[in-house]
Amino acid sequence: MDKGSLLNDRVRSNAVGFEEQRSLWSGFIRSAQRFPQRPAVVAEGKVLTYEELYELACRIAATIQRYPECSPTPLTAVFAYRSTTAFAGVLGALLAGNGYVPLNRTFPEGRTQVMFERSESRTLVVDAKSLPQLSGLLEGARERVLVMLPDMSDVAQLEARWPKHLFVGAGGLQASSSWREAAVHPDSLAYLLFTSGSTGTPKGVAVAERNVLSFLDYMVDRYEVTENDRLSQMFDMTFDLSAFDMFVAWERGACVCCPSQKELIKPDSFIKNSKLTMWFSVPSTAVFMKQLGLLKAGRYPELRVSLFCGEPLPVSSIQAWCEAAPNSIVENLYGPTELTIACTLYRWDSQRSASESEMGIAPIGYPYPGMTYLVVDEELNEVVPGGEGELLMNGPQMSLGYWRDTKKTSEAFITPPGQTEVYYRTGDRVRRPRSGGPLIHLGRIDSQIKVLGHRVELGEIEAVVRKHCGSDAVVAVGWPFTSSGYGGVEVFIEGREQGNELRDTVRSELPEYMVPRRFHFKDRLARNSNGKLDRKAISKSLEGNNE
Ligand code: AMP
Repeated sequence: MDKGSLLNDRVRSNAVGFEEQRSLWSGFIRSAQRFPQRPAVVAEGKVLTYEELYELACRIAATIQRYPECSPTPLTAVFAYRSTTAFAGVLGALLAGNGYVPLNRTFPEGRTQVMFERSESRTLVVDAKSLPQLSGLLEGARERVLVMLPDMSDVAQLEARWPKHLFVGAGGLQASSSWREAAVHPDSLAYLLFTSGSTGTPKGVAVAERNVLSFLDYMVDRYEVTENDRLSQMFDMTFDLSAFDMFVAWERGACVCCPSQKELIKPDSFIKNSKLTMWFSVPSTAVFMKQLGLLKAGRYPELRVSLFCGEPLPVSSIQAWCEAAPNSIVENLYGPTELTIACTLYRWDSQRSASESEMGIAPIGYPYPGMTYLVVDEELNEVVPGGEGELLMNGPQMSLGYWRDTKKTSEAFITPPGQTEVYYRTGDRVRRPRSGGPLIHLGRIDSQIKVLGHRVELGEIEAVVRKHCGSDAVVAVGWPFTSSGYGGVEVFIEGREQGNELRDTVRSELPEYMVPRRFHFKDRLARNSNGKLDRKAISKSLEGNNE
């Protein structure tokens, strides 16, 4: 009997009826049955075949199922970073019928603690390199937590230190054969993802299985993904675009390839050495590669699909990419986390597209199937075709809202006058197309910005700085401009000069990309005629000051 049929037998006995059930994990299982020996994931230089990933994920799932008292909330946190354990943790959570909550050890510990606590998850998968930060997470945990450590053989020390919690090392994980198929409702949580929140703490976007499946079904067909594809994983799991790489690959038996830290910054050799066929990144990566002169004509002939999402995509970078990847289709995807990964797209056409672009930025294009939009003015009434306004969207990818926060949910998910459906307010300023044209992204209506593709609420940075600097007059601005967003953030404070402690304290609460590069202390900050701090005037003072 070959290994493939062994796996088939095992899957059949564990997952009776899974063929009828459509869920995020059912696609993976089908691929594992068809391609047990093909690579499913490459991370930290290690390759896991579909069979190996199935085995580890099932053991994690079976362990979660063994302790149902630890899943009063159907969520499993995955505190693992770009490792095979991270992927197995995500899949294990889903196989157990839970959604996953990605946690990131490159974030400050306090922020990760807040996310873990707010998620109310009491099951946790941890990889070897995230282990040093585990105590921070457990210190704040009031209830018993099931901690799974697939990279550790001996958990005795942890057990002695934290008798309240339950530790399971590699040897203690349940056998994969004891995994039982979990019923997955279309509204079951797929993942809970925390994004920057304007009032000072991250907010959790609750995304359902049906939201991701709607996206996924469209994507795998559109790009005709097969088992021969090799997809990049340029996004951390705390960025929802990472879900595309994993689930699109696993749905069709393809391989998801994680770059090393060095390759992340300079991905040229990663694309070549990993023999990637599908690329997905923020535009900043293409901008950067172009600046470094890496986008040489014909350099990436194996790429057949190149996708960009997360921030404005400059036309000049797209054009350079098209030359470097001459056999690839190139698309600009747009979407907030609240509308599940991406919800509009635009295929670049070398003849037509430059004339459809505005201000050197590619259009965001057309809605995904089933997604509908309105472009509205401040009173939420539709603007005329060709007019500018805020983009509202609804449809099968509209998420469930903010986790345990009905107030914020009702502010962002609204029924506009004259409509009967709920729409999500994206906060993005767009041009309403004239007949048949693409949507054009023009900027934001609020103080959310993108820093190298990361979503940043300037209000969150201001709240953290205000807490520690002793002044209420604090303004954060994006600086410097780049062709796709901002390179960083700077902060202005009304008050006396302070030392480095302020920076250190702020750094302990915010991820690195949100930490202000410079603090400017002023006797008085500019105000507008209403006496409000004038963000525009303040940010203007940085012009011509680009060091
Ligand atoms: P996030 O929730 O982190 O995915 O950030 C969503 C926000 O990123 C959107 O509301 C937009 O402001 C911005 N964004 C995403 N994709 C694009 C794009 N292709 N062009 C311009 N802005 C984008």
